[in-house]
Amino acid sequence: MRKPIIAGNWKMFKTFDEAIEFAEIVREKVPSEEKVDAVICAPALYLPTLVDIALETDLAIGAQNMHYENEGAFTGEISPSQLASINVDYVILGHSERREYFNETDEAVNKKVRAALINGIVPIICCGETLEEREAGKTEERVASQVTAALEGFTPEEVNHMVIAYEPIWAIGTGKTATADDANAVCGKIREVVEGLYGSETAESIRIQYGGSVKPENIEELLSKDHIDGALVGGASLNIDSYLALLDKA
Ligand code: 13P
Repeated sequence: MRKPIIAGNWKMFKTFDEAIEFAEIVREKVPSEEKVDAVICAPALYLPTLVDIALETDLAIGAQNMHYENEGAFTGEISPSQLASINVDYVILGHSERREYFNETDEAVNKKVRAALINGIVPIICCGETLEEREAGKTEERVASQVTAALEGFTPEEVNHMVIAYEPIWAIGTGKTATADDANAVCGKIREVVEGLYGSETAESIRIQYGGSVKPENIEELLSKDHIDGALVGGASLNIDSYLALLDKA
């Protein structure tokens, strides 16, 4: 059985005080990590404080991006070893917003995945198609190529430490969710791709999240599907009650 993983992606939202208030309340109420992995991926600026607040609780803290080099002349960037040095547990990689607005390539995502693993950070690797690609019947092809590129060159043991998030771009922040069956079909395809690359045991154990307008009202149906092991949640993770409801329903 794969344990569900619910990760909030706060994107570029919340002030410092709001972030602290959220974490201080949520850490007291978060379900046991034996039941669900609860993660908040916050703006980088807040990570050290949030890691401290979440210390010795069942809440885990993640970053939303990082560079693939551990150090160097990369003004404005944050490195995997820097994140590891403050005990960040997770990092979102290859989010569609980073691919679209910051020119993140499949090759860079692959390098970042390697760097995350070397530094003991769990990568949440994002993939997903545009509306145009979906309408042209290219969803599976697009997602398979992103996953294949991101997962190139690892061992099955390394792949066991990864999480994949399927986020159709047209469903992000739009209120439109893929139907649970459609989302499940694509997550099943991703599992097939992993099986082709790393064998059936790894494919059975890797966790695949769905993301795109997930909220307390639709999480149960999504999670009831065979291939959906959790959610990567934007908007609904910003509110304490709805984030806790997502965790309770997982
Ligand atoms: P929404 O849940 O706001 O649609 O965002 C999804 C997302 O992009 C999470 O990474």
